[in-house]
Amino acid sequence: MARKRSREAATRQQELVPLRDTCECCGGTLWMAYRSTLTVTTLDGLCQLQLNIRRCHNAECSRYRHPYRPEEEGRWVLPHGEFGLDIIAFIGTQRYEKHRSVPEIHQALCKRGVTIAERTVTNLLARYEELVTLHLSSLARLRDLLTSQGHVILALDGLQPDVGHEVLWVLCDCLSGEVLLARSLLSASEADLAVLLREVQQALPVPIHGVISDGQHSIRNAVHSVLPGVPHQLCHFHYLREAAKPIYEADRHAKKELKKHIRGVCPIERTLEYRQDTEAEVIRDYCLAVRSALTDDGRPPLSASGLKLHERIAQITASLARVSEKGACHAS
Ligand SMILES: [Zn+2]
Repeated sequence: MARKRSREAATRQQELVPLRDTCECCGGTLWMAYRSTLTVTTLDGLCQLQLNIRRCHNAECSRYRHPYRPEEEGRWVLPHGEFGLDIIAFIGTQRYEKHRSVPEIHQALCKRGVTIAERTVTNLLARYEELVTLHLSSLARLRDLLTSQGHVILALDGLQPDVGHEVLWVLCDCLSGEVLLARSLLSASEADLAVLLREVQQALPVPIHGVISDGQHSIRNAVHSVLPGVPHQLCHFHYLREAAKPIYEADRHAKKELKKHIRGVCPIERTLEYRQDTEAEVIRDYCLAVRSALTDDGRPPLSASGLKLHERIAQITASLARVSEKGACHAS
């Protein structure tokens, strides 16, 4: 049944950026293509995800114009879902580990502040069941899709709704966004994870070309033993990004504040519309410099876009100061 009321506003925002910026088929640049937003209900409230989606622009490439979505999206929601995977994992553990009924699970969620209908709990329980009984080998559609794709990039993530409970491990393919395998495990030892990896590897009709996960030792060792030689390199990026989060937030705020001071390029350009003299040319160039400074985004965590903007604006200001100084000399 459809919701009768509109959803409340999101209390958090998170931007998800693809970790890759080169096409894994042709090695060319994956260009930023578009952004889409997705509001997800999680155990910690409503979160608005801003997804940056990239595309390969090489017309010769088999992934030409195929969207490449942020790898992390798969750990938030299932495709087309509006409830987070953490809620699905919560419902699953409540049902199968604690043997709670749907009304009881519904109450537990309401108590945690999650706005959800009882009917939705039933639906999500079905999603959970589909997930953990998913057998790649019996899904012709998925096998065909992966076969035509040629290989997969595996993202591995564990969702633990509550400390001390089962963890729902989800293995997705980053290229198609499809869930390949999901299992609930009480522990996440190297041996447990190796079983999951081996299962997915054996069921896949195509090879695994890379693994993306965070850097837990058990994951690293399991990947190393089951998929020796397969690149598994982004874990420190995850770490770094987590560590840099407060800086990223501060930087984003700084950029927003800076932008407020450099509005009004458009009206200046308009006044120059019919002028062809040197002064007009110079002013136009400065306007262009400001414009490109505004759109030149840094990529967190290694490059802070607020700092970058500050640096470029400072250069433009210094240049303007030099010009006005020289101008003054001429006048005298
Ligand atoms: Zn390509």
